[in-house]
Amino acid sequence: MSQLAIHQIPLLQDNYGYVLHDPVDHVTAMIDPAVAEPVLRDVAKRGWSLDYVLNTHHHYDHTGGNLELKRITGCKIVGPRHDSDRIPGMDLGVSDGDTVRIGSATGEVIAVDGHTHGHIAFWFRESKALFCGDTLFSLGCGRLFEGEPEEMWESLKRLRALPDETLVCCGHEYSQANARFALSLDPNNPDLLARAQEIDEKRAQGHATVPTTMEMERRTNPFLRADTENIALAVGMQGAPPAQVFAEIRHRKDVF
Ligand SMILES: [Zn+2]
Repeated sequence: MSQLAIHQIPLLQDNYGYVLHDPVDHVTAMIDPAVAEPVLRDVAKRGWSLDYVLNTHHHYDHTGGNLELKRITGCKIVGPRHDSDRIPGMDLGVSDGDTVRIGSATGEVIAVDGHTHGHIAFWFRESKALFCGDTLFSLGCGRLFEGEPEEMWESLKRLRALPDETLVCCGHEYSQANARFALSLDPNNPDLLARAQEIDEKRAQGHATVPTTMEMERRTNPFLRADTENIALAVGMQGAPPAQVFAEIRHRKDVF
């Protein structure tokens, strides 16, 4: 088992893709390439060659670089089995419980329906890194384009159960807007207040605010806290099923 080297690449307006490299077997993979060119440049700069693309879901801002990367590097494209007709150039479909190998590193596939049908996350246990696409964001979660609130709540609970130190490598830089919404629900949460300030400082300097950690998200992300009294109270739904509280806060964020 090896520890992957992980490099975050900003793509398009506010997307993040991630280059993964196994230094033992010299295997390289790219998570969610919105476009090809910056990925090719980054990988070449490091002296690596791209072996795999891993897609979390079918949206163009996560797959737009697939075909060009495949044409230029000959890489294999791995994505959700459910999305074989929606992922450009897909060679191998995976689903919940499957594993993917990047050299000697193993990633576990976790089904996380909600943002889209078929959305998956890749969890590299040894490298303590989760690539969750548009399911979980720093202080937020993805919009429900294809799924129901109950599905997304179940997906978020699965991710929430991962170890504290898990790096949450998500698909977008949305933390600052998410922090404003989170504070509107949970204004006295000291961890959230500190995190929001840290985010403002990082953004003022032009720095990324992700990855975050699962521990931080559990303490501060209102979408992971729909089953806490604080969040239920904030939306006037004490005693309601958590999935309903989640649906309400997702709706409020949509119109925030
Ligand atoms: Zn998406």
